Amino acid sequence: MRHLRRIDSPQSKRVELGGRFYLNFSSNDYLGLANDPALKEAAIQAIERFGVGSGASRLVCGSLAPHHELDEAIAEFKNCDAALSFSSGYAAAIGTITALLGKEDVVVLDKLVHASIVDAAKLSGAKLRVFAHNDLNDLESILQWANRSRRSSASPGPGIRRVLVITESIFSMDGDRAPLRELVSLKERYGAWLMIDEAHATGVIGPNRRGVADELGLSRSVEVQLGTLGKAIGASGGFVCGCRELIDLLINRARSFIFSTAPTPAAAAAATAGIRVLQSDIGAQRQSILWNRLEELHKELGKNFAKPQSAIVPLIIGAEQRAVEVAGQLLDRGLLVPAIRFPTVARGKARLRVTLSALHSPEEVHALASTIASVLSQ
Ligand SMILES: *Cc1c(COP(=O)(O)O)cnc(C)c1O
Repeated sequence: MRHLRRIDSPQSKRVELGGRFYLNFSSNDYLGLANDPALKEAAIQAIERFGVGSGASRLVCGSLAPHHELDEAIAEFKNCDAALSFSSGYAAAIGTITALLGKEDVVVLDKLVHASIVDAAKLSGAKLRVFAHNDLNDLESILQWANRSRRSSASPGPGIRRVLVITESIFSMDGDRAPLRELVSLKERYGAWLMIDEAHATGVIGPNRRGVADELGLSRSVEVQLGTLGKAIGASGGFVCGCRELIDLLINRARSFIFSTAPTPAAAAAATAGIRVLQSDIGAQRQSILWNRLEELHKELGKNFAKPQSAIVPLIIGAEQRAVEVAGQLLDRGLLVPAIRFPTVARGKARLRVTLSALHSPEEVHALASTIASVLSQ
């Protein structure tokens, strides 16, 4: 049985909970934009100009200027031909995967992909196959299997139509990376499509903060890129980007886009402002501060912990009960660090999921590391 914890302050590095302030090491607001003045001002301006409600789905009359500006800002930021925003990353995954796939198709997922992708894959009706986490050999054997019964010009008629491989560039609960270069060459060898979820890479990874695909120069080799506007971008919503044909298809087929009221103009405007901050010198500074803090945390925690590959630092505890106890002890000492357990992660793999933000000071990171060390040694 889980309970909601009421926070009485803005989302920031310090949050108020039950009348007391806690240092927050649990948010995905990696660059500290959720309460940023530039985003707040953009939302206020949008409310003044466009009001609070969108009135309808974007295909009816809800497609307001802020939504169009956001889609254009996303496409430019991600260096893609086109982009489409959704009310959440969850809605983007559901709408996109079900629009692309049906019964005649195969969807191949990394074992650790996010629940939104698992739900979407099931809902699509495609044949679902799962490969062991980041295991290229396992993936290749599935692609070989799929191609044996693939429809082609040489063998038209019944058989598998298309194959879509889906993974995350940075995994949400482990913070590790997918081997994207190798994934691209595999999917090209087998004529599959590749979709990557950059939810935790956007704003954190790469010289332009666009994520792993851009860092490796592979944006144009990944057919579908998924992201959220609710993590490092600091607002709310989700998006898909890729070629123009993909986006036109989604406008016509993605049911979570078509049959849902457009996000509020304030949310769209805040997200656009978040992207602009990410692209600016301030974005670059925040990213470099974040990586400095991650390095400091790694140094302090010691060699027993793997070097962070992202802003997510999992401290694996194992037993569910123990993870909850440790999180409770940290909370008593003023630190908000969530215990993540089944079904979010596998049974017996419960963990503390520490996330850092560019707003944390070196002293705060030091306090975190020394408190974790003292709690774990008890
Ligand atoms: C958070 C998350 C999503 C969903 O995005 P929302 O905008 O929060 O709905 C999708 N994929 C991954 C990997 C995520 O961590």
